[in-house]
Amino acid sequence: MIPSLATAKRIVIKIGSALIVDPETAAPREAWLRGVVEDIAGLAAKGTEIIVVSSGAISLARRQLGLTGAKLRLEEKQAAAAVGQIRLAQAWAQTLAEKHLTAAQLLITLEDTEDRRRYLNARATLSTLLGLGCIPVINENDSVATAEIRYGDNDRLAARVAEMTQADILLLLSDIDGLYTADPRKDPAAAHIPVVETLTSEIMAMGGEPPPGYSSGGMRTKLVAAQIATQAGVAMAIALGHRQNPIAAIMEGARCTWFLPAPGGRSARKSWIAGHLAPQGSIVIDDGAAHALAKGSSLLPAGIKEVSGSFERGDPVDVFTLAGTRIARGLTAYSSRDTAIISGHRSEDFEALLGFRGRDEVIHRDDLVLF
Ligand code: GLU
Repeated sequence: MIPSLATAKRIVIKIGSALIVDPETAAPREAWLRGVVEDIAGLAAKGTEIIVVSSGAISLARRQLGLTGAKLRLEEKQAAAAVGQIRLAQAWAQTLAEKHLTAAQLLITLEDTEDRRRYLNARATLSTLLGLGCIPVINENDSVATAEIRYGDNDRLAARVAEMTQADILLLLSDIDGLYTADPRKDPAAAHIPVVETLTSEIMAMGGEPPPGYSSGGMRTKLVAAQIATQAGVAMAIALGHRQNPIAAIMEGARCTWFLPAPGGRSARKSWIAGHLAPQGSIVIDDGAAHALAKGSSLLPAGIKEVSGSFERGDPVDVFTLAGTRIARGLTAYSSRDTAIISGHRSEDFEALLGFRGRDEVIHRDDLVLF
């Protein structure tokens, strides 16, 4: 079944530099951006949660800084990003505000999505922002990311954000309306592919070589993004972004390529938690909490009886019943020390006990696997 933007609960929309930045003026394309924001506002009004991943920082500042050569050095890109990100964020904040929406800026590095603790932090911030009705606008933190540990393209960053937030759909707005059997600019026989069910090596080969010059994306990084997203149970679409109101156009049937989520994709992360991580400690819970877990709830500190081992926030721990049966494993949101302190207490008391108010759950159900 083809996924639907109209019924998705959470959508990550990735917007490339070539869409948001006018090549003539090197300024944001305001009228186009207004159209995108109209589309976003329409979805948000129906209760869809939207996260934007927007490129454009480097392009917005290149001319202003006189960095107009075909290929910039990493330091030059980093400097340009530092200048352009302000303009980019301003364009989003202003345009969203016209529709009474609040923009929230997050600048993320590769490490933020690979390191478990930072991953949990970034994810918690995003879910709080969505809960507050904000539109997160994310870009890579290009100014501080170093060469070896840099995404360098927002296609993959957006896929990781979609995976991290368990979005239903990742939409890549692009300069092409989807995947073709060959590069349609070079091969007139190239055929459009409306749906990709499985990312076979044959499909991956259709990505070809990365484009020359400044552009960091191209079809290849989009297919890598599709791998990340679909494996995590997120559907992905590549669609034409240049037209006015591009998201509404897709909803009205404009051509695009859909990549369907891998079967069991959503559980891939859970099997990673269950199978590949060595537990750093254990938590014993009372029967009430054990029942709640079995029904799909998160683990709250009120039901915790005992904490052992030494673990940090983000580490895997095993959960036992009072009778000594191991019933679950999950990633904790608190260290062993803090878990012990808040055990048996309610979230209203956390601040007085810990000096800060963290998450309500010690292990969120998304991070919990039942045995
Ligand atoms: N983060 C870069 C920017 O904002 C763009 C990366 C990309 O082109 O995907 O300029």
